[in-house]
Amino acid sequence: MLRLYNTLTRREEEFAPSQDKLVRMYACGPTVYARAHIGNFRTFVCVDVLRRTLKYLGGYTVREAVNYTDVDDKTITGAQQAGVPLRDYTEEWIRAFRADSEQLGLEPPEETPRATDEANMRAMGELIAALNRNGHTYVRGGSTYFKISTLPDYGKLARLDHEGMKSGVSVDVDEYTKGDVRDFVLWKASKADEPTWDVGAGPGRPGWHLECSAMALRLLGEPPIDLHAGGIDLIFPHHENEIAQSEGATRHPFSRFWMHVEHLFVENEKMSKSLGNMYTVPDITARGHRASALRYLLLSTHYRKQMNFTWAGMEQAEESLRRIVDFLARLDMVTSDESSASTSAAIEQARTAFRDAMFSDLNTAAALAVIFDLVRDLNAAIDARTIGRPDVGAARRAIDEFDCVLGVIALRRAEDAQPPVPVEEIERLIGERKAARQRRDFAAADGIRHALAERGILLEDNPGGTRWKRK
Ligand code: AMP
Ligand code: ZN
Repeated sequence: MLRLYNTLTRREEEFAPSQDKLVRMYACGPTVYARAHIGNFRTFVCVDVLRRTLKYLGGYTVREAVNYTDVDDKTITGAQQAGVPLRDYTEEWIRAFRADSEQLGLEPPEETPRATDEANMRAMGELIAALNRNGHTYVRGGSTYFKISTLPDYGKLARLDHEGMKSGVSVDVDEYTKGDVRDFVLWKASKADEPTWDVGAGPGRPGWHLECSAMALRLLGEPPIDLHAGGIDLIFPHHENEIAQSEGATRHPFSRFWMHVEHLFVENEKMSKSLGNMYTVPDITARGHRASALRYLLLSTHYRKQMNFTWAGMEQAEESLRRIVDFLARLDMVTSDESSASTSAAIEQARTAFRDAMFSDLNTAAALAVIFDLVRDLNAAIDARTIGRPDVGAARRAIDEFDCVLGVIALRRAEDAQPPVPVEEIERLIGERKAARQRRDFAAADGIRHALAERGILLEDNPGGTRWKRK
């Protein structure tokens, strides 16, 4: 059975869903005001590994919601600066997020709600109404606030000290620190130039925390849901406030388990725009790295440990993945029909050890070590000719089983089937090169050919035109 660290209890606990074989889980999705960076994707990859572990090792059906935060302080400012309507502005970042998620092999969640979807806005209005009825709110200046002193266990997730809490003093921004534990805003009164909704709490727009509570409760059924996940920075105030809203409104526990992923750092520094060390998935692939290797890297450190991204680490991830792929190719050369008892025992042992590692709070580092031990042992068996075709079948099945959970080899195979540069881009560049030659700008034409060659695409000029092929 899966043992999972629960932030709520600060202990590892046995995880089983409350409803038979169905796991109902929610993960806070991206705030869609910019392209998500690889730190964000560390969290999403780890949540994907949890999802796959539940499905493929646990045998559960998963119903997962991952939202798009498409209205908050940051998205509104972004849309205003870009001079486009909020929903159009966020749509662009949602598309980018979907593209990057696909490249990283994230399984699509069952639900991907946008906060501004009409049904979600309505659910937020209903949540505020329930909080009003239960006496948890007050209105000031047209905005509705959650009064934290009305909920005696406010602060249980973040383990807040009640001494420092300032009830009656309100905070309007979506993000604040533990030093500012105050009554937080549920619904913000309309300001000029800001998008406005009216769902029963006066004209205005939701606070960030309200959105997730409303979407989780609307989409995942009766509380408590089984599991709620996010990056470690969300424990306070975001998740603490999600608990306050949901439990204040429903009078039931909100989520049984809370899973938090530690942060990704870059070359030992916090990732930030000002340091210029914030990378996106396209930044990584533009440097010639595979998204599969990035996924490998992001899941290779245990999710509760801080992780440091380095380019050297990226190279190692490529190399590790190559070792597995080379080993799979080597298996093809086995011709003996005789299976070996020790080899098939090693494969069975690896299957058990892999499952044990993943069930031990998703110990991906140990699970990968199991794979590499098996690769080493079977490579030795190939050299010693103590492996036969039945073992090869069993080895492939075992690696496939591991990869259902880790999702790196299938991703790499899909990449291999694709040209390294999108076909439309190659064709556009061939057109540009042709135009450059026609105006006798041979330097530009050669530049295009070299740039493509560096990215693994060779151009061949024939009487009928230019054709391309992979290096
Ligand atoms: P945001 O778009 O800022 O709401 O963040 C989306 C997710 O990424 C949240 O679960 C964050 O906690 C998580 N996150 C943000 N920065 C990092 C980081 N450096 N490492 C890992 N996860 C992060
Ligand atoms: Zn959330």
